[in-house]
Amino acid sequence: MAGIIVKPRSRIFHGHDWVYTSEVQKTFGKPEPGDVISIKDFKDRKLGTAIYNPESQIIGRRFSRRTQKLDLDFFVRRLERALTLRNSMNFADDVYRLTWSESDGLPGVIIDRYGDHFVLQTLTLAMDQRKKLIAEALVKVFSPKSITERNDSPIRKAEGLPLEKGLLHGEAPGRFEVTVQGLSFAVDPVDGHKTGLYLDQFDNYQAVGDLAKGRRVLDCFCNEAGFALHCARGGAESVQAIDSSEPALDCARENAERNQLEIEFTNANVFDFLKSAQSETPPYDLIILDPPSFTRNRKSVKDAMRGYKEIHLRAMKLLSKEGILATYCCSHHVNRQMFLDTICDAAVDAKSTLRLLASHSQRLDHPVIPTIPESEYLKGFIFQKQATW
Ligand code: SAH
Repeated sequence: MAGIIVKPRSRIFHGHDWVYTSEVQKTFGKPEPGDVISIKDFKDRKLGTAIYNPESQIIGRRFSRRTQKLDLDFFVRRLERALTLRNSMNFADDVYRLTWSESDGLPGVIIDRYGDHFVLQTLTLAMDQRKKLIAEALVKVFSPKSITERNDSPIRKAEGLPLEKGLLHGEAPGRFEVTVQGLSFAVDPVDGHKTGLYLDQFDNYQAVGDLAKGRRVLDCFCNEAGFALHCARGGAESVQAIDSSEPALDCARENAERNQLEIEFTNANVFDFLKSAQSETPPYDLIILDPPSFTRNRKSVKDAMRGYKEIHLRAMKLLSKEGILATYCCSHHVNRQMFLDTICDAAVDAKSTLRLLASHSQRLDHPVIPTIPESEYLKGFIFQKQATW
């Protein structure tokens, strides 16, 4: 097997599974892009088997510490292991992330399950080359009604892959309904945001909804209204939800109707809305901020932090005494501490003291490997704005 020899002190010696181009001491045996390769240390000891893509800065991604082929058997075994873990999580509904990339030993393979419908993303060259095999393994383990390929994430460009979507198996699912946590949602695997729903947020929807009783709620960046729906069901006094995308709002309205919950929807830019909503008496008792990532690369982190600070500052000013702020950041380039520091800066400027009630992350079906920090991306906090003692 062709492969690479990794330099001393590379991240793979600290529990990571990635090898960056700058960490390669030597390549041997002329591997082709997308090949399965062997990784060795500088003393010729085997570190495992990886997928190879010299077009990407991440030239190798280890998927096994042994010598391993990427064949049907391998994918079936990995899917079965992923399923065993999800089954043990006892979700009430068969709606979950079945594989979360490195965390399930499948670098670049993300599979979301909506009952009998599956949505596949192959974000690495080697896995993309083998997507038919992955679909075959899914058919073997689950006999699904459909498998949709949702490969329109811009991350694929880093691997030299085109953006595409389409059907890999079965009949086109169209738009269908799923029930999660007792609420019904429309899912559109082909045209919806992400692969249909924000599965990573479902525990957080519930936790925020549990705090909503009797409160006037504002859900900013509501998308399909996951937070707003849970708050309305949780007995909020009123729920207002804002997004700047009309298709997202259409879907959100439909979700509110089908669950017979009352939510007022506004099409607006959240930055402008928060600015113009400032008033003498704060109009909300619970504000949710769940923006899209403000940064796609390290260079724009500073600007992104300014954006995060601004919305927090404005939101705090709109919160009543002892009001709740539930806030999330899904940017890969902003870590938990940076996010927290920015919120604290905003609180100082707003002359508010925040009490931290809970720290949130992505749901259990998106497991995090602490030695692979990239496997964690969702950071969230619930604060209470403390009244002056
Ligand atoms: N809270 C949502 C996910 C939010 S995704 C959920 O759990 O389902 C981010 C959303 O923000 C998208 O729906 C996008 O349309 C919207 N958005 C992006 N920029 C915006 C802006 N400046 N103002 C309002 N909405 C915005």
